[in-house]
Parts: sequence; structure tokens; C-alpha cells
Amino acid sequence: AAVESAPAIVIGSGYGAAVAALRLGQAGIRTLVLEMGRLWNTAGADGKIFCNTASPDQRSMWFKTRTEAPLATFLWLDVVNKDISPYPGVLDRVHFDNMSVFVGRGVGGGSLVNGSMAVTPLQSYFAEQFPTVDVTEMYGTYYPRARAMLGVNTVDPAWFESTEWYRFSRTSRKAAANTGLKTTFVPSVYDFGYMQREAAGTATKSALGQEVIYGNNYGKKSLDKTYLASALGTGNVTLHTMEKVTAISRAGDGTWLLTAQRIDDTGAVVETKQYGCTYLFLGAGSLGTSELLVRARQTGALPALDASVGTGWGTNGNVMLGRANHLWDTVGANQSTMPVMGIDDWANADNPVFAEIAPLPTGLEHWVSLYLAITKNPERAAFSWTNGALKLNWSAAQSAVSVSMAKKLFDRINSANATIYRYDLFGSSSKIFADDFTYHPLGGCVLGRSTDNYGRVKGYSRLYVTDGSLVPGNIGVNPFVTITALAERTMARVLAEDTAP
Ligand code: FAD
Repeated sequence: AAVESAPAIVIGSGYGAAVAALRLGQAGIRTLVLEMGRLWNTAGADGKIFCNTASPDQRSMWFKTRTEAPLATFLWLDVVNKDISPYPGVLDRVHFDNMSVFVGRGVGGGSLVNGSMAVTPLQSYFAEQFPTVDVTEMYGTYYPRARAMLGVNTVDPAWFESTEWYRFSRTSRKAAANTGLKTTFVPSVYDFGYMQREAAGTATKSALGQEVIYGNNYGKKSLDKTYLASALGTGNVTLHTMEKVTAISRAGDGTWLLTAQRIDDTGAVVETKQYGCTYLFLGAGSLGTSELLVRARQTGALPALDASVGTGWGTNGNVMLGRANHLWDTVGANQSTMPVMGIDDWANADNPVFAEIAPLPTGLEHWVSLYLAITKNPERAAFSWTNGALKLNWSAAQSAVSVSMAKKLFDRINSANATIYRYDLFGSSSKIFADDFTYHPLGGCVLGRSTDNYGRVKGYSRLYVTDGSLVPGNIGVNPFVTITALAERTMARVLAEDTAP
């Protein structure tokens, strides 16, 4: 096949990729973005682009025959998941031994399916995780730049206190306060002005209409509305969708060569394409970028990649759990899907935990307080390319470390409030902590180990990583603001030093 060439290619279209595409386009560099998922801009028969969590259809998940929502059951009943026909839907759940990873698929990557929480980590913890990065510059320049570009805003505290839609957060806050724990508002990229109009009945419901993990039809500033829209607006950026890059190699003259498979809506490969570029940016996410690099090293295509490539992977200590409230502590039948508050016990040196107060919007009162805890689990795993597939050597014992950290905090909350855990949410009554999935895959090509201090991959020139694989397995809060800010830092440096004529 003929080789299609561009000065720069970006693989993926999530946070790291979107930043790369915009900054390359603004610098006047013709850039091609290759994304394996769909462009989500066309309404289905119901007039909506995305389906909601209450009645998922084929648009919900990436080539599955049944949805795989994080909550397996409710009151032990298998009422949460639904049979669907296989289709390139927006949310994927990738299964490894002992750990499955949720990721977004489509133009915008994780921004299409995530909870919009836009959190900046404590500066001291960032410095601990990234000892070689100048924190003054990070917190003075790149975090503010990322937050501004992403459109971060905060809920109006007065509205928060009065609306039925956040009763669930206030009830959890009370339980935390009874335990002597601090709660904090969490910024978001969901437009709270829009949400208040949803509540007032003057705008079509999205966050208040059970839309989130299978996409939001309104209100959310996902990357296709921010960075990627601006990138396309430069006139220098072209997007190819439904194309999965399967191999990267380097020609004798230093050109990067890529093989991509274009698929149709059934998943069948309809074309195998070859691409060439001078500058290659990997933004396929922790799983996608790790796969491409580990595969290239193990097949001999890129033998000079560092031995650390594929290592340093972690779950950001994710654990999901539910508590059962007393009958008088209602959480409300109406719940916004966008979390706005967290229990912040990260400063507790004995057991640092940041726990988001998560919604469980079923449309009826269920007295469940749901949480996604982020713990400081130090366990890490490594990827390998084995028998033609990506493997991850995460063990159940490594998940148990996150659970014991979350349990330590929530045992305190239960004891201070005389409450118990919910036993009916995760498939079997012996499972009260969902420790077998993560929303926050991080690592695999860690900054300063597998790359230099700016995401330049060691062993090769003009090869860059800009996504979550740079983060060493844990960042203590939800990761997308950090991924975006690090990508801004990389692009500022690369455009100043590497691409100058
Ligand atoms: P991604 O956003 O994962 O983007 C990678 C893109 O590359 C995807 O579009 C993928 O389809 C594409 N791709 C992969 N491989 C290839 C290939 N070989 N060829 C072509 N394309 C490829 N984080 C927060 O900060 N706040 C939250 O509230 C939050 N909630 C979340 C809720 C859910 C349900 C999920 C799944 C995640 C959540 N996250 C949240 C995590 C956040 O979305 C991720 O950390 C973030 O999206 C990672 O960004 P990235 O740039 O590393 O890659």
C-alpha cells in the first residue's frame, strides 16, 4: 500500500493527544491524528448521540454483547447490565488477569465517558511523584494553562446546598463530618450553568438525566469541544477515525513508519494502511501507548527502547464501595451524575485517601452512599507482549493493598455513624469493595525513566509520549488535569527545541 505522509502524527485523541495536536497545529506543523474509535457527532434514531446509563444500547460499549458497568448488581439483582449488539461504542472495559481497565473510545478519548472531575494534586505529592519536574513552573504555568483550556468550573455553593440533585453529596459530607474528616469541593469540566438550567427545566437533561459513562449529550466540555475543536480550527490538523495503529517502526532515513487497521462498524478490518512521519506523538493512553511500545521492543522493531518501558503501571489506588445509610439519612431519588465533592484525607500520613462522593442515579431512593476511593497504593505492574496479546502482571494481592487502605478510612466512617457497608453492589455478597477495575490507568512509559524529563522516548529521536503512561502509577487525585498539564509542558519544550527549522 502507498505510504501516506505527514510531518507529524499523533496516535489517539485523548488528553495528551489533543494537547499535542493543538500545539502542533498552532505551530504551523501539518499533523495527522489517528483514532481507533468513532467521531461522536451524529444522532441515532432517538435523536441523541449517546445513550444513558439506564437504558444502554449498542452505543454504550466497545464491541461487547452485554454492558459491563462498574456496578454489577443492585439489591443483588442483575438489573444493571443489558444485552447489546457489538458496535464501536464509547466505553471499553479491557480485561487483564485480576484487573480490568475502563477507557474511552472515540474522538476525545476518556473525556467522552469520564466524570469530569478536574482535580489538581497537592503540590508536595506531585513533587514526590515527579522529582525531576520543576514544580514552580508546573503550578505557575502548566496547570493553570490546562485548567483554562479544559474549561474548569465549580458548582455554586448556594445552589449545591439547596438542590435535591446533590442531596447524596450532602449526606456523605455529614457522615464524614461525624468522623472528623474534611470534605472539599471538586472542580469539574461539566458546565454548572447548564446543569442549573437542567434543574430548572429549561435545558435538556444530561447530567441530571443519568448520562455519564456512556457519554453526555449536553453540558460536558469534552475534548472534542475544547482542545480538539481548536486543533482542527488551526487548519493544520486532520483526523482519521476508526483506525487503530498496530505497529510502529523506523525507516533507515529516520522516518517513523506506522501500520494502521481501519475497521467498520462490525469491527472487521476493511483496510490496512501505512503512514510515515518525521515527528511521532504517542497519545493512545496508558494501555494503548504501552502496547505499541512494548510490542515494538519485543518484536525487535524498536530494540533500543529502555528496559523500563512497560513498567511502573498502577491503578491510582482505585477502590469503589458503598455504605448503607440510616433510613432518615436519605440520598435522594434524583442525583446528578457529576461528582462535586470528595473526602480529602490525603494529608493523613498514616493512611492517605482521597474519596470521591459518587452518585448512584437510579431514579429511586436507595440510601446508598457510593464512593470511588483513591489510595496511595505503592504496588506497580508491568506489561508484556505475549502470544500476540498485551498482558499485565497485576495480582489480586496488589488490589488487596488498595482495599485495606480504603477499608481503614471507611471503617472509621461506619463506626462514627453506626452504619455498615452495602453488600449487594458488586456481584456477590462477599464483595463489598470493587477492587478489580480501575478508571485511572497510569504508567507504562514513566517520565524521567522511559523518557527524558520532557516525554522524549529514550533510545530514539523525534518520538514522544504525551499521555497517562508518563504518570508513575499514582497521582492521588483524578488524573486528567495532570495529564493535560504535563502534555502542555512537553509541547512547549519540544516546539521550542526539536521542531525549530
Ligand atoms: P485517553 O483519554 O485514554 O485517550 C486515548 C485514546 O487513544 C482513546 O481515544 C483510544 O481510543 C485511542 N487509542 C488507543 N490505542 C490506539 C491505537 N493503537 N490507535 C489509535 N487510537 C488508539 N479522570 C479525571 O481526571 N476525572 C474524572 O472524573 C474521571 N472519571 C473517569 C470515569 C471513567 C468512566 C473513566 C473510564 C475514566 C475516568 N477518568 C477521570 C480518567 C481519565 O478519563 C483518563 O485518565 C484520561 O482520559 C487519560 O488520558 P490519556 O490522554 O492518557 O488517554
